[in-house]
Amino acid sequence: AQAEFQRIQELLPAWLETSRLTTPEGAVATYIPELAKIPADALGIHLMNGQGEFSSAGDCGFPFTMQSVSKVFTLILALMDRGEGEVFAKVGKEPTGDDFDSMLKLELVEPGIPFNPLINAGAITVSSLISGRSPVEQSARILTFFRELANNESLDYDENVFESELDSGHLNRSLGYFLKHNGVLEGSVEEVLHVYFRHCSIRATCADLARMGLVLAYDGTDPITGRNLIPRRFVQIAKTFMTTCGMYNASGEFAISVGLPAKSGVSGGILALVPGRYGIGIIGPALNKKGNSVAGVHLLQRMSREFDWSLF
Ligand code: GLN
Repeated sequence: AQAEFQRIQELLPAWLETSRLTTPEGAVATYIPELAKIPADALGIHLMNGQGEFSSAGDCGFPFTMQSVSKVFTLILALMDRGEGEVFAKVGKEPTGDDFDSMLKLELVEPGIPFNPLINAGAITVSSLISGRSPVEQSARILTFFRELANNESLDYDENVFESELDSGHLNRSLGYFLKHNGVLEGSVEEVLHVYFRHCSIRATCADLARMGLVLAYDGTDPITGRNLIPRRFVQIAKTFMTTCGMYNASGEFAISVGLPAKSGVSGGILALVPGRYGIGIIGPALNKKGNSVAGVHLLQRMSREFDWSLF
C-alpha cells in the first residue's frame, strides 16, 4: 500500500497534465450563469489515505461549489434524520437513464416518486426530509454536517452561485411544483428549493471532497480523528447509489471504465473513493455531454487502470 502511494505521488503531476489536454472536448455549464465564469481548463486533484497522507496536483486549491456532489451527503443526513423507511417512501432506488434534471419519468412511471435521490427531483425531495423547524435551520444542519465530514470549520456558501441558481433555477422550480402536485413534497416548494440550492452552493476544494470521500471509504468513520460520523449502513446505501447513479446517465460506462463509487457535479467536481484506502477530490470544469468532468474522468480512468482499483 505504501509503495502504491509513493507511485501515485510520483506519477500524479504528469498524469494530470496529460488529462488536462482533454478539456477542449468539453465545456463549462452555462445554465447557471455564475458557473459559466469558471475557467474551463482548470484541473486539480487531491487524494488522501487513512493515515492522513495526501497527494495533490494541478489546481487543487481551486474553490468550487459542490453542486450535485452534495446530494450524496444530504441523502445520508436525511437517512440519519428519518430512517430508511421514511426516505424510501419518497424516493426510489433505481437509475433512470435520463438527464439529471429530466421530468420524463416523474409523470409516467408508478408510483410517481423520483427514481433515485441523486437526480434533481430526488435530491429536492431529500432536501425536504432534512430535520429542522425552518429552511434556515435545515440548511444550517446540512452545513454543520458537511463541516464535520470535511473536518473543515470554514466550509461555507458561495453566495453568488446561490443567488445565480435561485434566479435561473426554472427547471428545478418546475420539478419542485410537479413533486408538490403529486404529493411527494410537503410544505412550501420555495422553502424546499431554498434548502436544495443552498447545499448545492457550498464551496469546497479538492481537499474537502477527498476528506469527505475518505469517511465513506472507511465506512463512516474519519480514520484520522477516529470519529464515527455516519452509520455504516447509510454509507453502504450512499456508495451503492454512487455506483449506480453517481455519474448521471454515464454511470454504467463509468462503472466499466473506472469501477469506483463516485459522484460528479455540474461545476466539474468529482468525489471518488477507493474503499478502505483513499478519498479523492477532483475539479475539472469542462464537462462532457453527460455532464461529467472530461479531464476528471480521464484521470480517474488512468489511475484505476494503473492500480487495478475497479471493484468489479
Ligand atoms: N445545482 C445544480 C442543479 O440543480 C445541481 C445539478 C448538478 O450538479 N448536476 O441544476
